[in-house]
Amino acid sequence: MVSLIPSPDTVLEMLKRTGAFREGHFIYPTGKHSPYYFQMPLAFRYYDTARVLAVALSRKFRLERDISSQLPKIAVISPSSGGIPVAFGVRDALSAEQIYWAEKEANGKRMFRQYVNQGEVHPCIIVDDIIRSGGAIEETAALVKELGATIIGCGAIVRFSSAAATFEGNQIRTLVDFDAKLYDSSEECVDCKKGVPAEQVRF
Ligand SMILES: [Zn+2]
Repeated sequence: MVSLIPSPDTVLEMLKRTGAFREGHFIYPTGKHSPYYFQMPLAFRYYDTARVLAVALSRKFRLERDISSQLPKIAVISPSSGGIPVAFGVRDALSAEQIYWAEKEANGKRMFRQYVNQGEVHPCIIVDDIIRSGGAIEETAALVKELGATIIGCGAIVRFSSAAATFEGNQIRTLVDFDAKLYDSSEECVDCKKGVPAEQVRF
């Protein structure tokens, strides 16, 4: 089963081919500079690629006893719209019963839709397309706990290695752990020093 999980290099190659992994000189909304940028929905626009990535991630979850023993009474939860195709793909591969996703509402607060009630959410796995800082996972975990549900797993297709590798004692399952080479300012950025034109990215 483990052998059916593509290597990090193979996954990066798929992301590159679909335009989801980009190399250049980017300025993030946080002001950080990086020679790399991930726009993950570009990979998930191709159904076959989306399926391969989600199935691979689901295999990592299935290997965990705490998860496999509770199936199908599990919820797969996405912190944002970017993680929705991942959540559907993982749910499908695991035959889990529930899917939820949070969204940032007009007030900037991450929330589930109204009328999701206390006690309705199964033990859950939080999945996202990419974990950059880990903040989205933490906010989502807080929402899940307010609803009285337990978190039994956490994962993403890509995790920046600058983000935490574990969440509340659970190892975060990923297909690629990536050193994003984030520079805090233009002064520290290698590409700025070389005078390479920068692109401002929106996410
Ligand atoms: Zn720069």
